[in-house]
Amino acid sequence: MKSKVLLPICLLFAAITRGQDSAGAILTQDDLKLYPLLWQQNAAEYRALCYQAFNIAGMRVDEALQKNPGKTNLAIITDLDETILDNSEIESEIIKYKTKLTYNKWMAWLRKSSIPAVPGGVEFLQSAAKKGISIYYISNREIKGLEITIGILQKLGLPDADSAHVMLVTDVFSKGPRIQSVMDHHNVILLLGDNLNDFIPVFENKNIGDRFKETDRIKKEWGRKFIVLPNAAYGEWENALYDYKDSLSEAQKVKVLKSKLKAVE
Ligand SMILES: [Mg+2]
Repeated sequence: MKSKVLLPICLLFAAITRGQDSAGAILTQDDLKLYPLLWQQNAAEYRALCYQAFNIAGMRVDEALQKNPGKTNLAIITDLDETILDNSEIESEIIKYKTKLTYNKWMAWLRKSSIPAVPGGVEFLQSAAKKGISIYYISNREIKGLEITIGILQKLGLPDADSAHVMLVTDVFSKGPRIQSVMDHHNVILLLGDNLNDFIPVFENKNIGDRFKETDRIKKEWGRKFIVLPNAAYGEWENALYDYKDSLSEAQKVKVLKSKLKAVE
């Protein structure tokens, strides 16, 4: 089947296989984010997937309330970036203006007057909180950005946006201990995230095959206790693609990408 949309995809992947774009410059990893970011910002399908995730989450909340009448210790754990907050603009700036994401740029982005929310996320969390459920935000943003992050959440009208409920990285990058600390005192009915590390630590540092196996092993949990939001622009899956070798050159990465692309022959 041919469509107008297929042409640029073919051109993009033809360029990947050569490792060069039409102007002869080597493609960078940032260039490769063009399509996923265009999709996140422009595809109604992306919005529909987000609404779908939060609609299912809403149904799970109502089920949990029916099963646990009168319980006051119910909680939801959610990731922030690309689960509740949409950072595609800062990601896009990097490709559009061929710059690098620096710490200063990231902080300037956080200080912007308004950061977009992922469609449906604010309404879902507000509704759950109104039903008496505690919301915990477990993010791998650095702890030094706590105040500014809380301010962003408050500006969006998100519930429980305070230092008791917003848990950023202090010394341990894995979310496991922070998730466990919430579970120690609450019945956690749902976890939401765009990265499988947002749910359980078994996905950490796993290769592609093992990530698939773990995903399959708990397949009944997706859409039940674990609600996944779409993010094709970045995530742990990228690290797995390169077998967690972050010292690869752009040319080596392009070679890896070609080798990981499944094709008929
Ligand atoms: Mg995230």
